[in-house]
Amino acid sequence: MAAVTAAAVSLRAATTTSTSPSSAPQHSHCSFPCAARTTAVFRRGVLTVRAQAVSTDAAPVKEKKVSKKQEEGVVTNKFRPKEPYVGKCLLNTKITADDAPGETWHMVFSTDGEVPYKEGQSIGVVADGQDKNGKPHKLRLYSIASSALGDFGDAKTVSLCVKRLVYTNDAGEVVKGVCSNFLCDLKPGADVNITGPVGKEMLMPKDPNATIIMLATGTGIAPFRSFLWKMFFEKYEDYKFNGLAWLFLGVPTSSSLLYPEVGTSITSRSLHEIFLSKCYFIVSCDT
Ligand SMILES: Cc1cc2nc3c(=O)[nH]c(=O)nc-3n(C[C@H](O)[C@H](O)[C@H](O)COP(=O)(O)OP(=O)(O)OC[C@H]3O[C@@H](n4cnc5c(N)ncnc54)[C@H](O)[C@@H]3O)c2cc1C
Repeated sequence: MAAVTAAAVSLRAATTTSTSPSSAPQHSHCSFPCAARTTAVFRRGVLTVRAQAVSTDAAPVKEKKVSKKQEEGVVTNKFRPKEPYVGKCLLNTKITADDAPGETWHMVFSTDGEVPYKEGQSIGVVADGQDKNGKPHKLRLYSIASSALGDFGDAKTVSLCVKRLVYTNDAGEVVKGVCSNFLCDLKPGADVNITGPVGKEMLMPKDPNATIIMLATGTGIAPFRSFLWKMFFEKYEDYKFNGLAWLFLGVPTSSSLLYPEVGTSITSRSLHEIFLSKCYFIVSCDT
């Protein structure tokens, strides 16, 4: 299985990253079980986080769960496997180095604006061909890696970040994952069957002052690439990110680091701008 792990927590905007002895933040995106004392210090490239749970006698206040089912303007399941949207592959690039363990590809498909997605949603892809029973392949879900405006800024494309699945089974045979290999092998101009969009659980917080903590390994960075594009690289009349963004990304080796340009284009600004943009990148890898 491709390692896809991602989680995002958003807290009310904090003006500093230092000690905040407070009770559980009252924000719908964050659920801390009890009062907590948290210290986060970022110094010379090293982040130290200390968290200490503090038990309280008071019964925890149960946060009212806000259903996202009726979330305004979020479209789901416009296209289904029997009548998918047929997009075209516009671009497909390997984004891991040749010596990385495994391959990950970034690809852009045309949608002509017909697949209206939000940052944090996923699409389904139905690979060409048939399964071993002669039936069409089942769809596989992929997190959308582009902002709603798409990589070309015209809201007419959708991008994915896909890890090619190859493994050796118990019989010693090399097995290739159906859909990931279909996608990683797609050539520009080829058709791709798209379903969805789906998902309302990983949408960006609406609060432009939120602190957004993003945790991911490998291709789990996909939805956060879409968040970061919207937060830092695009201009909107009705949205300007003024909060704080943290991205914690785990990759097996430095040669597997995905989208380093997203981090460097934010962090290579002057120190002043780094603090203005308020985005810190913590990348973990073994070598
Ligand atoms: C919401 C969601 C978002 C996702 N987003 C992404 C994304 O952004 N990028 C991405 O690359 N993937 C993503 N995935 C995973 C993706 O949907 C597919 O599962 C993945 O690409 C593998 O599909 P496949 O068709 O290539 O493999 P399949 O042909 O479906 O084979 C997968 C099967 O192979 C077997 N298998 C896998 N590894 C091994 C092993 N080491 N040993 C033995 N058996 C094994 C397991 O039975 C597994 O179920 C996401 C999944 C979900 C649910």
